[in-house]
Amino acid sequence: MDRTPKVAVVGAGLAGLGAAWRLSRAGFDVALFEREPRPGGRASSETVDGYTLEPVASTVSTADRALLEWIAEVGLPDELLPLRPVIAAVVHRDRVVEIDPRNLRGIARIPGLRRIQALRLVRLPRLIARFGDRLDPERPARAADLDDRSLADFGELYFGASVVDRWMAPLAFGASSADARESSRALFLRRYTTHGGARVGLPRGSFGELAETAASKLATYTGFEVERLELRRGTGLRMLLRGGRTLDVDAAVVAISAPDAARIAAPILSSAERDGFARVRYAPTVTLAAALRRPFASHPLEVRYPRSEGSALATALLEPGVSGGRVPDGHGLALLRATAEWGRAHLEAPDDAVAKHLVEAFERVHPGFRNAVLFQRVLRAARGFPCFDVGRYREIARFEEVQVDRRRRGRRLYFAGDYLMDPSWNGALLSGYRAAEAVRADLYGEAVDAASR
Ligand SMILES: Cc1cc2nc3c(=O)[nH]c(=O)nc-3n(C[C@H](O)[C@H](O)[C@H](O)COP(=O)(O)OP(=O)(O)OC[C@H]3O[C@@H](n4cnc5c(N)ncnc54)[C@H](O)[C@@H]3O)c2cc1C
Repeated sequence: MDRTPKVAVVGAGLAGLGAAWRLSRAGFDVALFEREPRPGGRASSETVDGYTLEPVASTVSTADRALLEWIAEVGLPDELLPLRPVIAAVVHRDRVVEIDPRNLRGIARIPGLRRIQALRLVRLPRLIARFGDRLDPERPARAADLDDRSLADFGELYFGASVVDRWMAPLAFGASSADARESSRALFLRRYTTHGGARVGLPRGSFGELAETAASKLATYTGFEVERLELRRGTGLRMLLRGGRTLDVDAAVVAISAPDAARIAAPILSSAERDGFARVRYAPTVTLAAALRRPFASHPLEVRYPRSEGSALATALLEPGVSGGRVPDGHGLALLRATAEWGRAHLEAPDDAVAKHLVEAFERVHPGFRNAVLFQRVLRAARGFPCFDVGRYREIARFEEVQVDRRRRGRRLYFAGDYLMDPSWNGALLSGYRAAEAVRADLYGEAVDAASR
């Protein structure tokens, strides 16, 4: 090609921002389209009276390397880093107990873990060593042949139910609160190898700010919805925007949810791809963000509710304010997130009813909490997290094979999103990087065939 190739990226969530960032650094002519008025997707936030309101605890781990490096590349290391350490805690019989789950000794001390089962944890390093590079964090397809049983089946067989409930499920699901009886054991194994000993922290600013800053350094078009993608005669793609405008490009990265991707790319997809998209399942999230007149904790505290506690809550994050931070100094913020099951059942419930129920659930461990609330917001997302159930990694492997085949035939359409990597910001960003790598390999004719590795 004797001109700079033109690439469209659809969706300015972290996957799309990551793809557009890498592509523009590689010298492509990139245009990023976002249908909402602001970039960020599920990482966006709003600030009300000095409180950053996000749909969930915006925790990041020291293992989220791609994300941390990107924060520096975007130019916000001083605003967002270093992370403010978050203390982990678990609810046990209506009491909050601080824990240190970063090594096996700390895990064995988690309240509610049966001693005999805790002792079996010594098996874990051997198991992990046996799985080797099938747990590569950037290549989820490699975990396909570990994707044969659920986290609950695997964990109960090797360790015991209390280990699954108190440690394995919270580690595997992070912010996503899925069901250990359905989730793939590969999700836990991949998380353990990357995040096992890592520290969790809070960024000092908001992720919405990160998305906005990155987008401002790219050719970003907010308020532009892509309605359809079609093949152009010869090579490349034609993009149809809401309102009737069209744009011809050499390649497109589609970084939106699986159902939306299937819809806009429908004319170009094979039946295998359509089936693959149709099988991606999402769990909803329902969160109460409560601005507090006092901090309620001396340091950021993330409280997990094991399933066996029978609460509507999955996690609660208490964030004390600091000067120049995300919450006013001397005040606090609580993010109370419901379990996926509760969220599914109450997705359409009135705000008042949701808030009342979640506050009551939290008052069981923090009596008097409601008196500290200044104002509150219920935040919901119908497609909160993609589920990584048993079979998901095999699906990803199949999907990647089809992508390799389509690329060989000259189709210049690429997909990115957390559903292809990991249900997290870091996962979304990495999926964007992978898509950008594939575009680069194809359009610049490099020998790297990223998707087939
Ligand atoms: C409540 C909640 C809490 C979370 N907490 C954490 C956490 O603490 N830590 C963590 O690591 N992860 C967390 N996550 C997960 C994380 O937010 C997601 O994994 C990640 O943001 C997904 O990014 P994405 O780019 O794949 O998708 P999205 O963020 O969904 O981005 C897709 C974008 O595409 C746009 N779009 C869709 N269709 C079109 C179209 N036709 N044309 C143009 N634009 C379009 C959308 O508006 C959106 O902006 C949380 C998610 C939720 C819902």
